[in-house]
Amino acid sequence: MDTRYRKTVIAGNWKMNMLPSEVRPYAERLRALAPANRACDIVLCVPHVLIPAAVAAFRDSRNRVFVGAQNLNEHPSGAFTGEVSAAMLADAGATYVIIGHSERRTYFREMDAIVNEKVSAALGAGLRPIICVGETLAQRELGITDDLITLQVKTALSGVPADKMRRIIIAYEPVWAIGTGKTATAEQAEEVCSHIRAVLRSLYGARTARAVTIQYGGSMNGGNAAELLSMPDIDGGLIGGASLTPEKFIEVIAAAGE
Ligand code: PEP
Repeated sequence: MDTRYRKTVIAGNWKMNMLPSEVRPYAERLRALAPANRACDIVLCVPHVLIPAAVAAFRDSRNRVFVGAQNLNEHPSGAFTGEVSAAMLADAGATYVIIGHSERRTYFREMDAIVNEKVSAALGAGLRPIICVGETLAQRELGITDDLITLQVKTALSGVPADKMRRIIIAYEPVWAIGTGKTATAEQAEEVCSHIRAVLRSLYGARTARAVTIQYGGSMNGGNAAELLSMPDIDGGLIGGASLTPEKFIEVIAAAGE
């Protein structure tokens, strides 16, 4: 990570786990463990119904934890039963939202064009998008990782002006490493993250590209975080499994300070 130009952000993704009643005990434990002078911002992306409890539990902490959502609908309002808009998330106190996670791309058929609409809805409501991109194992083996990532990044950012880019995080999440216990090597992860920065440079110029936080995600934990985060273009992590336990999440947060 290069802290001269951009923030280090460690974000947890609870996925469809945890109950509203479990949020406060988690927050208290995390607070007890968290170092006072953190070198990174911490975000927890929680299921929609947990957002109010998470905002209340983390608001007063000495070490503020930002609350995020894991998805949103691209429309501002209307007859979309079961969906949640960007304005609802912002009004509930969320500041970040994950967009285009591979589980949504796979199970809910979210395509790059929808990801792009969600990014603009999120920005319009003042939310900070964490845009996930990444290749499957088959795509990696075909040698098309860079082309695929280029397409995912360019489509997701279509129409996004340069002055909004500081509000955006790109998370490189190789699909084959998510929830599998297989982590990309630091070199593999850096190769793609530096490619993402090159794509940003081609779209927005060097100054804007170097200010964007790029995370790695995929079985990141206390054992591998320090090495991944030592790479020049990896500015944080998106952490699934290891964010469910304060003791494990804090190990990744601590690694960001090394
Ligand atoms: C994720 O949910 O984005 C993720 C990276 O999960 P895990 O850390 O469990 O692989």
